[in-house]
Amino acid sequence: MWPFSSPYPEIPLHRIDNTEFDYIIIGGGTAGCCLASRLSENLHVSVLLLERGPLADTWASRVPLMSADIYRQGALAAIWPISPMINAHNRVVHAVIGEGLGGGSRINSIVYTRGIADYNKWKDMGHSDWGYDEVEPFFMKSETAISHRTSRFRGNIGPLLTRTFTELPFTVLKHVNEAAKSIGIPEVRDVNSPDAPIICCANMDVAIDPKMRRHSTFRAFLPKEVAVARNNNLKICTEAVVTRIDTELDASSKLRATSVQFQDAKPSSPARTYKARAKKEIILCAGAIANPQILMLSGIGPSDHLREHSIKIAKDLPGVGSYLKDHMALPIAFETPLDDSLHVLRRKPLRAIKELLNYLIFGCGLFVTPFLQSSIFVRSSLLNSNFEVVISDPSQQNARLPENIPDIEIMPIANRCIEGPSHETMDMIGVFSFLAALVKPKSSGTVRLASTDPHARAIIELGYLTDPEDNLVLRKAVRFSLRLAEQVVSQGYPLKPFTVPASNSDADIDEFIRQYIRTTYHYTSTCRMAPEKDPRPGVVDDELRVHGISGLRIADTSIFPDIVATHTMAPAVMVAEKCATYIKKSLVYEVDNA
Ligand SMILES: Cc1cc2nc3c(=O)[nH]c(=O)nc-3n(C[C@H](O)[C@H](O)[C@H](O)COP(=O)(O)OP(=O)(O)OC[C@H]3O[C@@H](n4cnc5c(N)ncnc54)[C@H](O)[C@@H]3O)c2cc1C
Repeated sequence: MWPFSSPYPEIPLHRIDNTEFDYIIIGGGTAGCCLASRLSENLHVSVLLLERGPLADTWASRVPLMSADIYRQGALAAIWPISPMINAHNRVVHAVIGEGLGGGSRINSIVYTRGIADYNKWKDMGHSDWGYDEVEPFFMKSETAISHRTSRFRGNIGPLLTRTFTELPFTVLKHVNEAAKSIGIPEVRDVNSPDAPIICCANMDVAIDPKMRRHSTFRAFLPKEVAVARNNNLKICTEAVVTRIDTELDASSKLRATSVQFQDAKPSSPARTYKARAKKEIILCAGAIANPQILMLSGIGPSDHLREHSIKIAKDLPGVGSYLKDHMALPIAFETPLDDSLHVLRRKPLRAIKELLNYLIFGCGLFVTPFLQSSIFVRSSLLNSNFEVVISDPSQQNARLPENIPDIEIMPIANRCIEGPSHETMDMIGVFSFLAALVKPKSSGTVRLASTDPHARAIIELGYLTDPEDNLVLRKAVRFSLRLAEQVVSQGYPLKPFTVPASNSDADIDEFIRQYIRTTYHYTSTCRMAPEKDPRPGVVDDELRVHGISGLRIADTSIFPDIVATHTMAPAVMVAEKCATYIKKSLVYEVDNA
């Protein structure tokens, strides 16, 4: 920071001990920053935002490529092992979440996709206020789409800046786009337009500002100017771990969330616990992994599990942490010339310096290039025996129809995508991967407490491949990726197998799946929006209020009734925007009825 500029206005934990706010937001991540910004627009409303990670607004944290390297020293990522995957040789993959003001949006690949038909499916599930037409205004409100200024579906005045890059930085990617076209997949400029064909090879939007810096939700919704201007009514407290939400019975013997307890994120002994009270509401935005943990520590969750940990039950809610969804994915990888892959930055220091200078001087080059510049969305039922896409009726391309939701996304990435740091192999080769993701998984997992220590990480069971149908779609995803690779090679591009199945047999593909299945970090649905008595019991109602507890809402990816068949950052922001509107509406109601 420049020595004479004022620091970002953060408040230390002890200064808010025993204080009172209208709203307390737990988790200043992707959704939390947006919600804090929207609620504090009204300067008469007081808001406290508690975030576990630091502010850490460093130069590297803004450079698109560097900030997305989750294994980088100083990366704002919490990484810990997930329970062994029983259907995949008991392999252990790792959970990754963004931990810093902005959460996942500080470390993710900044791809901005909304999903369209997914919300009409939510509507079909009974959530009448969550169909595409109902959520579109909230996507638009949050965004300024620099590359789609004239689109009637894209935002023009929202804080989150998104853009596309049309120039593909690697030759292999150009061949992939051609390959997709050759097997019946149309190219689409704006995958977020409901008028675009749903099965497509899409040019992706990314959240990058005009200075070519990552535009996280922290920088979009709570930049220093906003935080300073609202310093009186918005308090931002980082490195604060929320340990518990207190509930009390109100005058009519109904449970009400009243206050929040929190501790310093840096371990101290003995840990000091602070407390802040909420006059109106507490909103959980700690993400799909931490929300269930905080709720369970507060006695809200599946009673059997709470009893196992001797936690006093405030409210038995079996849905808490129970229906974790994620997009499982397979890296089908090929060797390429070193210069045609991101690996060149690690193997050729001079090229890395040149690219860095390009970034610093001209704001271009590999340091600003998105990991994922175009992506292929297909529906396995439309693939013929030759793994070409066959559209027999134009309605099959209607992006609004739930029956058209793709179940496979193939992400062409000029990098090694096997889980773990990509510099593990030091050979002078490039690697290109088709990261084939199952975007409508049927399998689900759980989040449970490891202990009653609020600083400990939760136990995550991904539940991958527990539904055998997922395996069938994955087989198709692998064969489809190999078909794309064949097309690339037929154009004269030198792709050589790097990690691919031993043969095309079901047995070898299944073995490949078990060896390489990994997470894409798109965790959702652990506090589903669904009725309490649903066959898969819900946690929040359609206005995001926790069942049976007043003064408590949840607003982030954890509330998704089902995972969307696309990337999850933009939908998290949409949920926060919608939550802000519900809260403001209830405030108006209160004033009108006072
Ligand atoms: C490596 C990676 C790459 C990804 N790439 C993309 C992509 O390119 N595009 C895309 O759309 N999606 C991507 N995702 C997914 C997307 O970023 C997340 O789904 C989204 O950011 C989740 O938003 P959220 O608000 O639900 O949670 P988060 O953004 O995770 O926010 C939760 C916040 O709560 C805080 N918190 C947790 N526990 C506590 C506690 N006890 N007390 C206080 N605070 C707490 C956390 O520190 C965090 O800041 C990626 C995710 C990762 C990890």
